[in-house]
Amino acid sequence: DIKAAKELSSTLNEVQQNAMMAPLRPILVSAGPGSGKTRLLIHRIALMIASEIDPASILAVTFTNKAANEMKSRLVNALQPWETTAGPRLTIGTFHSFCLRILRRYGTRVGIGNNFDIVDTEDAKSIIKEITARPGIRERIAARDPKDYLQLISKHKAEMIDMLSQDWSDPSAKLVLEAYEKELRLQNKCDFDDLLMFTKRLLKNDVFAREDLSKQYAHILVDEWQDTNSIQYEIIVLLCGSTKSQVRAKSIFVVSDIDQSIYAFRGAMPENVMRFSETDFRGCDVYKLVKNYRSTATIVTASKLLISENKNELRGDFESLKGNGNKVRVGKFPSDYAEASFLCEEAIRLHAKGIPWSEMAVIYRTNIQSRVFEQEMLSSGIPHHVVGGFRFYSRKEVRDVLAYLKVMVNREDRTAFYRVVNVPPRGVGPVAVKKLQELSLELDRSPLSVIDLLATNDPALDRAFTRNAARGLLEFKCIIDESVDFAFKNELGPTLSFLVDKSGYSQFTANQDASAKSDQKQSGEGMKMDVVGEFISAAGAFNSSAVALGTHVLGSRPGRGAEDRATDSVDSEQGSIKAASVIERGSEDEPIVGNATSLETSLSPLAGFIEECTLLDVDAEAFRDGITLTTAHRSKGLEFDVVFVTGCTDSHFPMLFGLEPREEEEKVEDERRLLYVAMTRTRERLYMFYFESHFRFGRKIPCLQSRFLQFLMQAPKSRDLFAPGPGFRSRL
Ligand code: ATP
Ligand code: MG
Repeated sequence: DIKAAKELSSTLNEVQQNAMMAPLRPILVSAGPGSGKTRLLIHRIALMIASEIDPASILAVTFTNKAANEMKSRLVNALQPWETTAGPRLTIGTFHSFCLRILRRYGTRVGIGNNFDIVDTEDAKSIIKEITARPGIRERIAARDPKDYLQLISKHKAEMIDMLSQDWSDPSAKLVLEAYEKELRLQNKCDFDDLLMFTKRLLKNDVFAREDLSKQYAHILVDEWQDTNSIQYEIIVLLCGSTKSQVRAKSIFVVSDIDQSIYAFRGAMPENVMRFSETDFRGCDVYKLVKNYRSTATIVTASKLLISENKNELRGDFESLKGNGNKVRVGKFPSDYAEASFLCEEAIRLHAKGIPWSEMAVIYRTNIQSRVFEQEMLSSGIPHHVVGGFRFYSRKEVRDVLAYLKVMVNREDRTAFYRVVNVPPRGVGPVAVKKLQELSLELDRSPLSVIDLLATNDPALDRAFTRNAARGLLEFKCIIDESVDFAFKNELGPTLSFLVDKSGYSQFTANQDASAKSDQKQSGEGMKMDVVGEFISAAGAFNSSAVALGTHVLGSRPGRGAEDRATDSVDSEQGSIKAASVIERGSEDEPIVGNATSLETSLSPLAGFIEECTLLDVDAEAFRDGITLTTAHRSKGLEFDVVFVTGCTDSHFPMLFGLEPREEEEKVEDERRLLYVAMTRTRERLYMFYFESHFRFGRKIPCLQSRFLQFLMQAPKSRDLFAPGPGFRSRL
């Protein structure tokens, strides 16, 4: 479509235009930060849609959910001039959400069914804990943190290590792995790694599924290609076809920047970029973008200076299209508290000058560093939100309520059941829980259905529980049953309100808040009631956005009944290509989970919501105004007018401990890339702060200036680039 191409070209440079319109075959775009890779990728999708390529045949993969959302809203903008009648059923999501979608359709063909639940890391940890406490296993394992086992298991599943055939140094790991896998299948669950692993297995072994899927996803586009690990790489290649010539003719478009590869620890292999152009897709077209639209010349020069220390054969040079702007402000503080306090003052000053809070970001190396900033911003009244890490969804209150929801949707979910059976306390003490566990194993029934027996006065259960405990258990079952009934007839938001009320959970948190207040305890985490309230609004928003946007990002789409689908298609026929239509819709290929009994259908919005909370951290905060607090990892792809890179010490950037000198050398390169990503998020004003001490576990720990910062400051022309901030006085 020539008109569309012209229109879309108008906001791209020449190289971008050529790449946008390049023939539908393997294409690799390799370019630095802020050079418009993501913009180009989005425009190519827009052009495809405007040229009447069936949107259902387009698969776009991003690295985070935030990026998927961002891409969607950018796509809505790019497509605004076209009123298309066909409601595009474009697929945008992360690798995990895309794999989930595939397994929902084909899971039965790899033996995991298609109505499994997803366990997040927190749940997986509880399962490991339970396993390692089992008699028979307990005695044979080395005492380890559940996290260690999870890491091993995860590496095993990502095919980075083979735990089963290898003579693993800790023989208990294999034992735990096997029990863990068995438990997941028993509870009908998949963890995050399973999503990738089973998808790959499916595509590899099932010719029918592979051909079907590679036909459906005729066009594949991947952002942040440099961070795909080998299992993800293989999934993509398998999706491209069964023969070498099919693969080499595939319409696949990947954009990457090796210098921004920051997921080595998860098995991401920057070599995948080379592998793309040199093996599977040899002969692909390569495009390089050389202009940086994001950052001022000063910021571009400073970050190029930093990364020039890393070897990278694919790196091309690039230049800023902006003026010099402000110098990078470097600040030294006696402590992390002083750093945070100064940062807040500076943010307030900038805000007074007209820079919106949402245009500022604080970037740090590790999640725990967010605390000091949160505290300081709370007391100075600066609106802010934390991306990732100690996320909203990892708050205890949220996880408690989620556990209730999980039991409602899946009566077999033991992990969730045991989490909340006595929260708030209802007389089901440890003895009763233990008895219940025993009975559940002995009778081979889920704990909830053991309570069913109790309700029917089954003689087998006579005297198993004290009167008090029995009453508590029956009460719990009653809460679940009534909430399920309620969920049939009501929307998600009201259902959650009903649940927290009925279960006594809202009273419970209110009491805790009140006593924390009277004890004058400063939790620094805010009120528990607020967390619950916010979770309920998130549920409400899930509902209404599901309506407004057709549905959510991949994987979070609540499976809906036939009635809803009918209205959907009416909408999509009348609707223009606005927000509603770019989002993936309920397409015919989506099976209704299970036998589509009325129960499953009515609870499916709830199941969809749980899935969203688990798989997608489309956190409520992501849409809020305020300063963004984020780790460097999670800042990928984003941009802000003002960026504070904090904690530029030699224990944070780079973060190296307990490494052999040779490992360290490699790790330093990883860390340098990470700092590079952080710096290059900035449009106008970059601050780089460090502190000379911080508190950890109640001890004051001295810190040195980061070797990276030192390197930058000592470079020949550093005076043109860096300046100590005026008034960066020491405090504390
Ligand atoms: P990163 O590597 O950090 O993900 P990127 O290469 O994906 O960066 P984009 O986010 O696509 O870069 O673009 C950076 C900024 O430059 C965005 O604000 C984008 O809108 C703008 N931009 C990109 N291309 C152009 C262009 N041709 N004209 C004007 N602005 C552009
Ligand atoms: Mg990008």
